[in-house]
Amino acid sequence: MGRIIGIDLGTTNTVAAFVDGGEPRIIPNDRGSHLTPSVVAFTVSGDILVGESARNQAVVNAERTVLYIKRSMGRKRAIEVDGVQYSPPQISALILKKVKADAERYLGDEVREAVIAVPAHFSDPQRKATVEAGRLAGLTVLRIINEPTAAALAYGTRFRGDKRIVVYDLGGGTFDATCLQTEGDTFTVKASCGDNHLGGLDFDAALNRAVIEQFSEQAGFDFSSDPVLMQQLGELVERAKIELSSSDHASVALPFFVAGGKPLHLQCSIRRAQFDRLAESLVQKSIDLTLRAISDASFDRDGIDSLVLSGGSSRIPLVQRRLREELGVKEVALVNPDEIVALGAAVQAQMLVDSSQEVELRDVVSCTLGVEIDNGRFVALIRKQTQIPAETRRTFTTVTDNQSAVEIHVLQGEELNAGANQSLGRFLLSGIREGARGEPRIEVRFSVDADGIAHVAARDKDTGASQQITVHPVSDEDDQQRLHSRVSVFLERIEQLSRRADADIDDRFRKEIEDLTAHARRALERGDLKTMRESYVALETIIDELQLIVAEPEADDAGA
Ligand code: AMP
Repeated sequence: MGRIIGIDLGTTNTVAAFVDGGEPRIIPNDRGSHLTPSVVAFTVSGDILVGESARNQAVVNAERTVLYIKRSMGRKRAIEVDGVQYSPPQISALILKKVKADAERYLGDEVREAVIAVPAHFSDPQRKATVEAGRLAGLTVLRIINEPTAAALAYGTRFRGDKRIVVYDLGGGTFDATCLQTEGDTFTVKASCGDNHLGGLDFDAALNRAVIEQFSEQAGFDFSSDPVLMQQLGELVERAKIELSSSDHASVALPFFVAGGKPLHLQCSIRRAQFDRLAESLVQKSIDLTLRAISDASFDRDGIDSLVLSGGSSRIPLVQRRLREELGVKEVALVNPDEIVALGAAVQAQMLVDSSQEVELRDVVSCTLGVEIDNGRFVALIRKQTQIPAETRRTFTTVTDNQSAVEIHVLQGEELNAGANQSLGRFLLSGIREGARGEPRIEVRFSVDADGIAHVAARDKDTGASQQITVHPVSDEDDQQRLHSRVSVFLERIEQLSRRADADIDDRFRKEIEDLTAHARRALERGDLKTMRESYVALETIIDELQLIVAEPEADDAGA
């Protein structure tokens, strides 16, 4: 019948686990290691390497090696190697395929199903891309679980009873703070806050900058201008960072190499206190988000029973010191933060196939889901921290007579201005019965399933007929193109209207038009999406005002 496994598909490492006799256990890879580097490489001879072998050749084959693919999941960005384009799920699938093969060899059984963990703050497209990666690897993804929730589940038996738990999960590329409450055998996630771009890579970058400065001074040239040296340095710096978690100092050395015709030997020593100063603002950012999650969960800072540390970067001593200072918790669970998420994903996997399991899990929506309304405002439909699965209904209608279709723009995010949130897709409700405007009533059902993935369905309330829905996922590029053409059209329209209304425009308004149009033109030139979105709303208001000015004399003319 095959086995089910739990997978932590990490930015830097991937880990798999299964439940054996009621206890979750890590599945070692073909080299006996618990962590498989999330690295894929394409060799000149056409082989595909995954894991340690890919990482070991990364420096000498940088242009055919793909690192940190998790950071690109959910984006429409293709990775090109030797003229072949790969989507992020295709690259992730190669990692999952290896994990599947290693698990099958270790368990001596076929593995067809999996639970994959993702950062709590992964957006809808990122979750869908993860399910797709699993499918491409030949795995049915039975559930997507949030990493911090998995981390807490791994300690499940320990937390039976009435406990308030905070999970601090700082990995290679992402950060999440999650507050859970246990009551009997029920785990309820109360709140989750995080940052999809805060993790070990940012600590590496901070340390890298400091080392480059020292090396550039020693070498007498700008070190960052040499990509090969930079790649070598990147690995050495990460190693030094890890060393600083257990030693008071670490050194970075690039022994004997030639650059600019000069033989060089560079070395520098970093003290932990120095690293702490570089890391301080990043750690503070994570602490602030943790405190926000605690407040969102309505937990009392003094009433936290346990702090669970997860993700490799939670080993940084400054992180642990600052957390103890801020939270003063009684118990800190730090057993292998690299493995805890995979262990929890395996526990969840077992819960799904074994109905005798008593533990119940309730998670929350990590990003608000809503729609854009006429004036570019965002209306929330399912709010952040709502328990999943969640569902809401909203009735839409038409704005013109005999309108046969309505476009609904669904977004995810916390901003009031729709343009500042992430677009999930545009849904076209077509085949609406002809009628006076405002008459048709189409009920749209928005839901977020147990994987945190959004769904939309529509029904004509009067006839009961389901509406046809077409989904157009919006990529960054599509969004940019669409905005570019809309802003250009608006600029042209403003020019025409300004000419017609010229004599009736006062100085203040003229200045406002000049400033805003110049600002919008610069945004178009630079391809600056954020400013284009802001300009779009501002230009629309100007067009409205100009139309009023132009309409007045025209009305007079007509009446004359
Ligand atoms: P994860 O995504 O959970 O596998 O975390 C990987 C990140 O943790 C990478 O950025 C590593 O450099 C970092 N990391 C692993 N071990 C340590 C350590 N002992 N001290 C500091 N950072 C670490």
